[in-house]
Amino acid sequence: MTKPYADREIWFLTGSQGLYGEDTLRQVAEQSQEVARLLDESSDIPAKVVWKPVLKDSAAIRRAALDANSDDSVIGVIVWMHTFSPAKMWIAGLDALRTPLLHLHTQADVELPWDSIDMDFMNLNQAAHGDREFGYVATRLGTSRKTVVGHVSNPAVTASIGTWVRACAGWAATHELVLARFGDNMRNVAVTEGDKTEAELRFGVSVNTWGVNDLVAAVEAVSDADVDALVAEYEDLYDVVPALRKGGDRHESLRYGARQEIALRTFLESVGAKAFTTNFEDLGGLRQLPGLAVQRLMAEGYGFGAEGDWKTAVLVRAAKVMGEGLPGGASLMEDYTYDLTPGDERILGAHMLEICPTLTTSKPALEIHPLGIGDREDPVRLVFDTDPGVGVVVSLADMRDRFRLTANVVDIVPPTAALPNLPVARAVWQPRPDFRTSAEAWLTAGGAHHTVLTTAVGVEAFEDFAEIARTELLVIDESTTRRAFREQVRWNQAYWRLAQGL
Ligand code: MN
Repeated sequence: MTKPYADREIWFLTGSQGLYGEDTLRQVAEQSQEVARLLDESSDIPAKVVWKPVLKDSAAIRRAALDANSDDSVIGVIVWMHTFSPAKMWIAGLDALRTPLLHLHTQADVELPWDSIDMDFMNLNQAAHGDREFGYVATRLGTSRKTVVGHVSNPAVTASIGTWVRACAGWAATHELVLARFGDNMRNVAVTEGDKTEAELRFGVSVNTWGVNDLVAAVEAVSDADVDALVAEYEDLYDVVPALRKGGDRHESLRYGARQEIALRTFLESVGAKAFTTNFEDLGGLRQLPGLAVQRLMAEGYGFGAEGDWKTAVLVRAAKVMGEGLPGGASLMEDYTYDLTPGDERILGAHMLEICPTLTTSKPALEIHPLGIGDREDPVRLVFDTDPGVGVVVSLADMRDRFRLTANVVDIVPPTAALPNLPVARAVWQPRPDFRTSAEAWLTAGGAHHTVLTTAVGVEAFEDFAEIARTELLVIDESTTRRAFREQVRWNQAYWRLAQGL
C-alpha cells in the first residue's frame, strides 16, 4: 500500500536514561522499534514513521529537535517516554522544536504479566510516570501538542495518530502554499478581508495579487489543439448537455471554458501557486466568470475562494491535503438559503458556480445557464448533488488581533426534492446539534458565510490543525449548547488575547 504522504516522515523519538543499565536500554530500543514499526505499518497512518535511536540526555534531544526542524520531509514528531526520562532533559529540545508534536502515552504490551512481574519489569515499563514527567514539562513550557493514550494495537489510537499526521501534512502544505489572487476582494464585504502579513507568519501562506488581465493574456495564448483535447475529456467525464457538445449552438462557450481551465492551470504553475481567488467584480477581459475551470482545479487539489476570499482558499487547500487518499472531498461552500420547517430544518449550500465535484461520486452534468452577476457571457459549470454523509464546514475569520476558526459538524442529506431549476452544484445539510443552536452559535462566533465543506476528514483534523497553528477553533457539534457556547466565545476572547502576550 502506498501511503498518501509517502515522501513525508514522522519521527518516532523515545525517551529513556542510563539509570537502569545497558540491558534495559537494549530492551527500550527493541520495544520502541516495534511500536514505531506497528505505526508505520498501520493503514491509518498516512506517512512514513521513522524510528530514531533512544534519547538519553539533553544534548541528544536538542539535536534531534533541530534535525527535525531542518528536514523538510519531517512533518511531525512523536515522543514516548518508555522508561522514566527525567524531563529537564527535554527542556532545550522542546524549546527548540518547531515541528508539530504528538505525545504518545503507551506501553510495549497490552497486559501486565501479573504472576511474574518483578522490579525489572516495573523499571522497564514505566511510561505511566515517565510520560507524566514529560507532560509536566511540556505544559510548563506551553508546548502545543496532541496527546494520544493507549496501546498501538487499539484502532482508536492509530486513527487518532493518523488524523494528526493529516493535520501535520495540512500544516506543511500551508507553509509551502503560494496563493494567487486575481483582483482584490469583493467591494464592501467585511469577512473576506484579512491580514495577509499575519497569515504568512501564522500559517506560512504567501498571499499575493496578480492583475486579472495577466490571466486574460494566458487565456488568449491557449492553443486550439489543447482546447480540442480537453473538450473531448469533458465529453468522456460528464453528461455534457447537447447545446455544449461539438456541433451544438453553445459549443464555443464550452471551448472558452476549456481555454480558461488550461490558462489558469498554466498560470498557477508558472507562479508556483496551489490556491487562488477570483472576483466577479473584476473580470477584466475574461468573457465568462470561471466556473467549470475553478471546479476542475479544485478537484485537482487547488485551494479556491470566490470574491477574493483568500482565507477560505487556504482552508480549501489545507482540507484537500488533509483528506488525501480518503473517500469524500472538499470544496468552497456557502450557506445560501434555508428550509425552516420546524424540527426538520435544512441548509442549502452552494455558490454562484464554484463547488468542487469531489463532493459527489455521481457523474456531474456540464451545463450552461445565464448568470445575472458579473456582467459577462453565460458561464459553463458542473451541476450535481453532494453525496449524503457526515461533513464539517469550517470558516476562517480575522478577528483583528488573531484568526478564528469556526467549525460545524453537519449531516449531508439528499435534497428534499429534485431541483430542476437550480443551475448550480449544491449540498443540503442538517447542522449538529440542531439548526437553531448551530446557526445561533455560528452567528455568535462571527463565522463567515464562505466555508470549506469537507467530507473526507472530520472535525478532529481541524482541532489538530488549530492546535499546531496555535489558532482559536470554536467547534459546534452534538455537544454544543447555546449558553455554554456563548460563554466560551467570551472566555476565548480573554484567553487568546492573554495567550499572545504583549
Ligand atoms: Mn460568495
